[in-house]
Amino acid sequence: MVSLRGVDKHFGDLHVLRDIDLDVAAREVVVVVGPSGSGKSTLCRSINRLETIDAGEIRVDGELLPEEGAALARLRAEVGMVFQSFNLFAHRTILDNVSLAPLKVRGAKKADARREAMQLLDRVGIADKANSHPAQLSGGQQQRAAIARALAMHPKVMLFDEPTSALDPEMVGEVLDVMTSLAKEGMTMIVVTHEMGFARRAADRVVFMDRGQIVEQAPPAEFFDSPRSERAQTFLASVL
Ligand code: ATP
Ligand code: MG
Repeated sequence: MVSLRGVDKHFGDLHVLRDIDLDVAAREVVVVVGPSGSGKSTLCRSINRLETIDAGEIRVDGELLPEEGAALARLRAEVGMVFQSFNLFAHRTILDNVSLAPLKVRGAKKADARREAMQLLDRVGIADKANSHPAQLSGGQQQRAAIARALAMHPKVMLFDEPTSALDPEMVGEVLDVMTSLAKEGMTMIVVTHEMGFARRAADRVVFMDRGQIVEQAPPAEFFDSPRSERAQTFLASVL
């Protein structure tokens, strides 16, 4: 579903992605972990083409990432992204936030877009907030709205970049629960997170990055219980 080959990226002198090869199969859940600055966000952003790459290839569902224009807009619709900050439109209701992009980008009919948005809000457990504005919601509710908004585009893959790190601790669980059920329903997901419990429960595979490289990858039990590289051992000792 997502495939990266020989991906390289610099920011000036800084080599942030080094010869990255990564394949994520349809319905697979890949959790990316690694120290701060190791390139996890840059990797996610490259898959959505929020960052350009210097070398290599990225394909989504077999298609090379388009450079620009309508093809790029289509790709962005296929790749849902949820960030640490929720980026909801402050002056729109939650229902509008979820139904606007399908109306504009997918050309959905208004009644259909709103009906589906209501179903999605129900799925993430905030149907009662449909007519509220983002500021009236807790952080966890806002992040669930952001997930519903991404799902409204019928993405083929969902990227999550530390979706819970800006939340108060008591709200982390409700967002992880939504992500866990998405994973169970067979959504293809790439998740950057420090929530090692989630990684253990929900990941098919853990990818460990350090200094722009994929250092090792393994099913969660194997990665957490017997990491092979010294760098992964050091990292795990610092977070577990
Ligand atoms: P964290 O866990 O702190 O979120 P990360 O693994 O997501 O870290 P990235 O955000 O991908 O790391 O950053 C990788 C490196 O690239 C870091 O050294 C960062 O300072 C640098 N970097 C990221 N974005 C830019 C930018 N727009 N311009 C210059 N350098 C950048
Ligand atoms: Mg990051």
